[in-house]
Amino acid sequence: MRRYHLCLWGALMSLRGLGDYQGYLFDLDGTVYLGDHLIPGADRALGALRAAGKRIAFISNKPLGRASEYAEKLRRLGVPAADEEVINSPVALRLYLQQADLGRRVLVIGEEPVREELLRGGFELVEDPAQAEIVVVSWDRTVTYDRLNAALEALRAGARFVATNPDVTCPLPGGREALDAGSFIALLEAACGRRVEAIAGKPSPLMLQVIMQRWGLEAGDCLLLGDRLETDLELGRRAGTAVALVLTGVTTREHLGEWPAQPDYVLESVADLAP
Ligand SMILES: [Mg+2]
Repeated sequence: MRRYHLCLWGALMSLRGLGDYQGYLFDLDGTVYLGDHLIPGADRALGALRAAGKRIAFISNKPLGRASEYAEKLRRLGVPAADEEVINSPVALRLYLQQADLGRRVLVIGEEPVREELLRGGFELVEDPAQAEIVVVSWDRTVTYDRLNAALEALRAGARFVATNPDVTCPLPGGREALDAGSFIALLEAACGRRVEAIAGKPSPLMLQVIMQRWGLEAGDCLLLGDRLETDLELGRRAGTAVALVLTGVTTREHLGEWPAQPDYVLESVADLAP
């Protein structure tokens, strides 16, 4: 009976038009823009959603930039965007920590945007591991051996263990890669013998939960648009939103055919959102 129920629900969901949701969550790179170029028609599609009074958020795992810088980039590319509409992993982590009430004194492995976001949330940044109630782990190109040791000491003493994003590496132009937050998480997990407790970024559903809470919308009212199966599709699956996969980024129809789960919609581009 329950199975029948789920099938029926699935069928109803798939009958829903792309424009029938109340909240739209956009991955950025590969979905709204590719590097420094707007995906053709993305401005028109977003304009149509705004004209229809839809809620819009832009999501990104990358913890090296400020939300305001992403909003500025969108505006430069011709897409109106408010700073508060960009939820990158440092913002999502800050919103999560403000709700979760794990403590106030934070030792950070992370760069300026992460530190600023935590200060904005009313947290105190500490260097002394004995003072730390929380260890935040992020991508940090300035990290030192001493700071990693301080994080280890704080974790051994029972500080809570959270992180911005799980990406082990970040792709760079020319096919190269750079160490990302996930590598530092793995290092500290191995050293302290504990697993990270919460990660704000994709595919953890935390990022969408804090946005939907802010909007006052249920997951079923929201459509997530993204280009990556293992993060965007997986995020939608875990958070319970509908997912539209766009083919302007890393995923081809061939990849999609080999993937066990399938998105609710497959779009050539985000431009297909416009009526
Ligand atoms: Mg992407």
